Amino acid sequence: MQTTQHKNTLEFAKEQDQNDPLRRFRNQFHIPKDKSGEEQVYLCGNSLGLQPKLTQEYIQQELEDWSNLGVEGHTEAKNPWMPYHEFLTEKMAKIVGAKPSEVVMMNTLSVNLHLMMVSFYQPTSERFKIIIESDAFPSDKYAVESQLKFHGHDPKDSLILWEPRKGEELCHFEDLEKIMETEGDQVALLLIGSTNYYTGQSFPLKKITELGHRHGAKVGFDLAHGAGNIQPNLHETGPDFAVWCSYKYLNSGPGSVGGCFVHERHANNKELKRFTGWWGHNKQTRFNMRHEFDPIPGAEGWQLSNPPILSLAAIRASLAIFDEAGFENIRTKSLKITNYLEYLLKEIEGDQIEIITPKNPEERGCQLSIKVKNANKDLFDKLMAAGVISDWREPNVIRVAPAPLYNSFEDVYKMVERLKALL
Ligand SMILES: *Cc1c(COP(=O)(O)O)cnc(C)c1O
Repeated sequence: MQTTQHKNTLEFAKEQDQNDPLRRFRNQFHIPKDKSGEEQVYLCGNSLGLQPKLTQEYIQQELEDWSNLGVEGHTEAKNPWMPYHEFLTEKMAKIVGAKPSEVVMMNTLSVNLHLMMVSFYQPTSERFKIIIESDAFPSDKYAVESQLKFHGHDPKDSLILWEPRKGEELCHFEDLEKIMETEGDQVALLLIGSTNYYTGQSFPLKKITELGHRHGAKVGFDLAHGAGNIQPNLHETGPDFAVWCSYKYLNSGPGSVGGCFVHERHANNKELKRFTGWWGHNKQTRFNMRHEFDPIPGAEGWQLSNPPILSLAAIRASLAIFDEAGFENIRTKSLKITNYLEYLLKEIEGDQIEIITPKNPEERGCQLSIKVKNANKDLFDKLMAAGVISDWREPNVIRVAPAPLYNSFEDVYKMVERLKALL
């Protein structure tokens, strides 16, 4: 990475915005305003991405086709509903570095995680343990614990936590290697969040995949904080599966449908156990209704139901923007804007705040997690009151994420100025 000579001035921030090749995209989003009508400094795209202006139009199209066509919209709508999910696949696959046949948009993240574990967590009496990172998102932990119990295992001795060392916040890959050296032959599944929601640490996905596979375990990633943020290169990286949501960096609206990746090596394996429904069945004979289940090859074969078109329409609108901007360009800006945020925060780091996210840009996405040293949530509340939208994670972290599609260097500058005023 080339290093820019950063400056702590509004002029410098504005100049960066002027030179930003993606600057036109900010105007394609609705930026929430405060009571006085001023745009908020919205740094919360890691929790809920902002709404593209295009979304309304895309959803409106489906509402219109439904009102005009009724059931015939399945085949006659401008974008027929029957194959609608397929319209998303190619663009989504690019963002996560997969082949189109490896990706499907369906359900929501936690549901997809369970469906994937049905297929890729097949414990035996010798090999039944699951490893997750110790600060995994609660939903992931609940899902994993319930799967262990479902198969008759007690999480107390079958759930292994990959933990940071004492007094540290981040996980070391070497420690995961050590766990695998001692317990690897009992580990059935490694399930890791590609970018940790709390610390913002991005894990070495390829090394983790190779480590798991070398020891005979299956490997899955939760890309909730990875998809649309970092490039996980899923096909090449080679995990067995991955799941993600579309409402964080992918800007597709609250609770919108999630994504699922199944590696090509499993595409035609009809023996693999799975929970099934009609939407995963061979498209040619789906409506004959009397056939034995015949899965569509690839990720689509894991679909259960016909999907919610209004949600898919929102995803389609968002993916159109990602495609136009190009994910590489998005990542390039992400690196720059986060480096700038880090530079500004470093100037006010001290007895009150400290960045816990890795310093190496390759080990993080756009989020920086700021530890508030006396766990003073007041600081966060005041920052919100000052028009900076970020979020607080117990026990002591403020997460800020400049989303490269709509955040400006000026946003970042303003955020740090307002924080500085509060310290
Ligand atoms: C946001 C998030 C989820 C949310 O799961 P849903 O099923 O979409 O509610 C799960 N896991 C992680 C790591 C997350 O960041």
